[in-house]
Amino acid sequence: MPELPEVEVVRRGLERWVSGRTVGGVEVLHPRAVRRHIGGGSDFAAGLLGRRIGTARRRGKYLWLPLEDGGSAVLGHLGMSGQLLVQPEAAVDEKHLRIRIRFGDGLGTELRFVDQRTFGGLSVHDTTPDGLPDAIAHIARDPLDPAFDDAAFHRALRLRRTTIKRALLDQSLVSGVGNIYADEALWRAGLHYDRPTAGLTRARSVELLGHVRDVMNAALAVGGTSFDSLYVNVNGESGYFDRSLDAYGREDEPCRRCGTAMRRRPWMNRSSYFCPRCQRPPRPLPRVAS
Ligand SMILES: [Zn+2]
Repeated sequence: MPELPEVEVVRRGLERWVSGRTVGGVEVLHPRAVRRHIGGGSDFAAGLLGRRIGTARRRGKYLWLPLEDGGSAVLGHLGMSGQLLVQPEAAVDEKHLRIRIRFGDGLGTELRFVDQRTFGGLSVHDTTPDGLPDAIAHIARDPLDPAFDDAAFHRALRLRRTTIKRALLDQSLVSGVGNIYADEALWRAGLHYDRPTAGLTRARSVELLGHVRDVMNAALAVGGTSFDSLYVNVNGESGYFDRSLDAYGREDEPCRRCGTAMRRRPWMNRSSYFCPRCQRPPRPLPRVAS
């Protein structure tokens, strides 16, 4: 499943290769890929025809192409295996090609949505005054957004009865932090994933946000990371990046800071990787005699 850095790599590819072009034709090859579009495949195609695509945008792991001259945007869900490929028109169709968008500009390339498992798709939505597709208006800003409010994030953490990793993955608090980057940032911060957020100091939450940004920026610098080999960026080049991670996937390997064997624990149908020495579990709450 792509995380924020991978989606940002795709966004940059779309900005480079698709933004500014006018849609000349749309072919929907599988109805599941447009199931989030209320009017169905033919309405999706008719709605895009003749529209000029604006600058590709992203919030968290959500990606969209604004349609110029009118209050709507094409929202892309990559799901587990979705790919947006810019291919020469003459290139052989991919086995799992679901949607083709042609441009009538003679540049010789087209945009293809390819998705083996078809959890992803494309859909057109009205946009809010901020330019967000209305379907994702409830999604919080991501930590790489210049307008992300660190102080408000800290206040929200203090008010919630939750634990730190749950908070990092809560899209209404902060978007775009997935399991891999949460484990990496928590390891860097020396925080156990089950620490209650209510006790975090301002300095600790600011430090944690800094680590989240650092791991995302490091991934972006080398083109994104993903453990899904199906993930391919907008030009069909693999976005897989083999930079060694410090926590995620390192069960029984020595902590790169203290040498203690790293541990893995089941966590919300996923796994959490941590160093039992650098990231001490929270003390259980004292029992109150009744
Ligand atoms: Zn350690």
